[in-house]
Amino acid sequence: IQTFYRLFHQCRKTFAPLNLSDYEAIGRCEQEVPEYFNFASDVLDKWSQIEKKRKEPSNPALWWINGKGGERKWSFEELGFESRKVANVLSGPCGLQRGDRIIVILPRIPEWWLLNTACMRTGVVFIPGTTQLTAKDICYRLLASKAKCIVTIDALAPAVDSVASQCQFLKTKLIVSESRRAEWLNFSDLLKAAPAVHNCVKTRSQDPMTIYFTSGTTGFPKMVEHSYGSFGLGFFICGRYWMNLTPSDVVWSMSDTGWIKAAIGNVFGPWFQGTCAFVHAMPQFDPKVILNVRTPSVWESGICSFLSSDISNTLKHCLSGGEPVNPEVMEQWKSQTGLNIYEGYGQTEIGMICGNMKGMKIKPGSLGKAAPPYDVQIIDEKGSVLPPGEEGDIAIKIDAKRPFTFFTRYVDDPVKTASTIRGNFYITGDRGSMDEDGYIWFMGRSDDVIISSGYRIGPFEVESALIEHPAVVESAVVSSPDAIRGEVVKAFVVLSPSFKTHDRKKLACELQDHVKKVTAPYKYPRKIEFVEQLPKTITGKIKRSELRNKEWGQI
Ligand code: ATP
Ligand code: MG
Repeated sequence: IQTFYRLFHQCRKTFAPLNLSDYEAIGRCEQEVPEYFNFASDVLDKWSQIEKKRKEPSNPALWWINGKGGERKWSFEELGFESRKVANVLSGPCGLQRGDRIIVILPRIPEWWLLNTACMRTGVVFIPGTTQLTAKDICYRLLASKAKCIVTIDALAPAVDSVASQCQFLKTKLIVSESRRAEWLNFSDLLKAAPAVHNCVKTRSQDPMTIYFTSGTTGFPKMVEHSYGSFGLGFFICGRYWMNLTPSDVVWSMSDTGWIKAAIGNVFGPWFQGTCAFVHAMPQFDPKVILNVRTPSVWESGICSFLSSDISNTLKHCLSGGEPVNPEVMEQWKSQTGLNIYEGYGQTEIGMICGNMKGMKIKPGSLGKAAPPYDVQIIDEKGSVLPPGEEGDIAIKIDAKRPFTFFTRYVDDPVKTASTIRGNFYITGDRGSMDEDGYIWFMGRSDDVIISSGYRIGPFEVESALIEHPAVVESAVVSSPDAIRGEVVKAFVVLSPSFKTHDRKKLACELQDHVKKVTAPYKYPRKIEFVEQLPKTITGKIKRSELRNKEWGQI
């Protein structure tokens, strides 16, 4: 009888419908996180069942094009079929077991989505990396993560081979390529031979699912571990209320596969809602191809000027995250498309912290309001909540329990993990303020704030003012030593081509006057240096710390 009941409950669970309202309640922390959760079996396979029952045709789950005539469209059923085969490749020829780690460095090709899903099915911990990594970066990641397997393409295989002998944990190399390479397993050969039947592992919500390396804007990238609960369940609210997705939508996320934004924008956000994830291979960034969005640096690189009226007719909703969007850029976008940019603010560790949810009044330059389930506050160094308008640390209140959406830990670094907590708060490491309406205003990373003659100045405010001037393509504002004031504001400015021949001295004075006019005069940059480009992370984020260290004479 016991066996009968066990089987009966198992069947009931397998065929239970996808109850999105339960997931919403969990996402808002109004309902307990289930003991067991696996995004592949609990969400993807459920959409596959729903798809089969539907009479009318559904959108594909994944729609990929390469811009050269290549196209693939997979329904949830097909995605399930293919990813089960890949799961068998991982646990068969690749010899990976549950809990083992795999580094996947692939461009935007469908195999990345298959491997991501196959890892959930096998319990193998998925560690994505961007294709912009060098041999040194790959070596750092292989050693730090102790990954047993690496997957990449022809272009990066020599880099892996050049460091493989130093990486004692690496056992298997898998190449996604049409040709064979010595000492590498070939993905398509193995896929062809792989059996199609695979039983998804049963995972606890707290089990480790993925490790992301942070952008490394402030130092060496940190290994952020997320669980099946924090990553899978944690993105429900984001997909429904920030991205505003339904099964009849198509979403295009421009993020590189190595960053958490690809997981939010192209995996969990859309697939939780049954939405089609559209992917353009686009190996090289090209505004003419995109007519769309990636990070604010991309907006600034001139996309607005390429927008055609066609895109404005079909585009319903635009999102940005990862870096602040200057109000000037937002205005340009709106004037070309009639649409707002709904900015989100988050971290690899925590997911989305604040956002402008669809329908909310947007205050350009602000991060929006706290995103559920978070209680975001501005606090001082003692952990006390500051009143509206006062600048402090952007922090998340932790009640009795750490929110399930949080990362589990920085791998192998308990000290750093613990250092993110101050009293009842998680410290984001970013500074800002909150207004009377609960909107959060970003000032900068804690280390980037400039203190000059007692005034605290956030680089973002000065950079936003500078970009309003036609001569400025982009800028980075940092502190610079000064005998009288201790430190002063210095701006590194990239000029637009038509201003490059202008008298630099005059232009510097003009920019200083401009900043004094558009923002509080004490913030104006007392020093200006014109540069050809700014130092950036491979995510495209400005490395202000590098410029600051140079100013202060450190390496
Ligand atoms: P590292 O932690 O390795 O120095 P990183 O913090 O840049 O790198 P990510 O987790 O990719 O790594 O980025 C999160 C950070 O990006 C946030 O803490 C914040 O400083 C910045 N950020 C994200 N979204 C926004 C936004 N909308 N506006 C302003 N800043 C943002
Ligand atoms: Mg960070």
